[in-house]
Amino acid sequence: MVRIEEYIPIVGQAIIDDLRLLGEKLKGKVIQNINSTSVGGGVAEILNRMVPLLMELSVEARWDIIKGGEQFFEITKKFHNALHGKPENITKNDFDIFLEASRKNIEELDTKGDIVFVHDPQPIALIKKKTSNKWIWRCHVDISNPNKRLWQFLMNFIVDYDSAVFSAPSFSQTLPIRQFLIPPSIDPLSDKNKELAPDIIETVLEKYNITKDKPIITQISRFDRLKDPLGVIEAYAQVKKYINCQLILAGGGATDDPEGVKVLEEVKEKAKQFKDVHILLLPQNDIEVNALQRVSSVIIQKSLKEGFGLTVAEALWKAKPVVASNVGGIPLQIKHKFSGLLCHSIDGAAFALKQFLNSPEYAKKLGENGREHIRNNFLITRHIKDYMLLFLSLYHPEDVVYL
Ligand code: UDP
Repeated sequence: MVRIEEYIPIVGQAIIDDLRLLGEKLKGKVIQNINSTSVGGGVAEILNRMVPLLMELSVEARWDIIKGGEQFFEITKKFHNALHGKPENITKNDFDIFLEASRKNIEELDTKGDIVFVHDPQPIALIKKKTSNKWIWRCHVDISNPNKRLWQFLMNFIVDYDSAVFSAPSFSQTLPIRQFLIPPSIDPLSDKNKELAPDIIETVLEKYNITKDKPIITQISRFDRLKDPLGVIEAYAQVKKYINCQLILAGGGATDDPEGVKVLEEVKEKAKQFKDVHILLLPQNDIEVNALQRVSSVIIQKSLKEGFGLTVAEALWKAKPVVASNVGGIPLQIKHKFSGLLCHSIDGAAFALKQFLNSPEYAKKLGENGREHIRNNFLITRHIKDYMLLFLSLYHPEDVVYL
């Protein structure tokens, strides 16, 4: 386990001192995180690092996971897409199944934490168990344009929380409860992001039969339509006409995302038309993701919708030039032409990829800027500080708290 002191060379002593002080103030409080999966996707990624570090700071953090069958997760995936604004036919039966699975979790899950920190819509109905403890709903999804009927349904639960947290200003909604804007973060010392020895990177390349003889463009993502893997292949096809490069599309599954298998099949089918495309189904292995990001010449994240886009932060932290869509939390991370290139279309993505591949000095400069931008804004130490201030603020509901 990483110790908090190990972050001092990266973020400085003062930030660690602040964290210790806040940890002392929260001593004795149990912070109970609840979400729907321990594996795959950004929320699990963050909680895996956040929970032990909070404990390092004397905060009694816990992490529970709700249960749900295949049908429940199919419906919550529909919810996820609909909150992102995708047209979805959500039926009364869907709501009933959601409520029935929620009822079982309400019965079975102990929610006695002093602060119950509920992540995303899947466990949202647990609020019906609220007693005198404090409850926060943490929404990681881009809800700037949600399906109205679904949003009304979720509002029945949201109103009973003490506070809500969103990742970006554009996601905030009119709510009768206090809301906070706290963007996510990455952990620079995790296996996903730490420096890697060259021989480790070589081993991963050998495993997947990838050679470094041509520049590598990579997108790491769950196989999800909102990550637009087919659009990535089309952008690559345009670039490939001019530059002899290769594409890696790599991703694993998440236990709460049943759509992945189908999307992967579509991607494989499309990739057959093109040379030098590697479609990798990754095991849950952070070192492999880290190695693939590090070996890439350019990282792409061509999402159609995105909550925050941790993969962008991970790539920038590795000083990689990144081409990413101007959606969700991505523009918080990429300032166009300063810490990466934003795109709005397949043609735009292809243009930006060519620009980076043709101008290595420019690519290097933007990658370096990106790394500093992440250091200053999107590392786990900033995130923990924001959360601890939020936890403390729940006991001072009348005070204005500036995060
Ligand atoms: N990830 C991973 N293996 C994969 C695909 C993704 O470890 O095969 C990680 C990725 O590195 C990132 C997280 O899962 O840390 C995805 O978070 P992001 O915010 O980019 O997207 P989400 O999946 O939450 O929509």
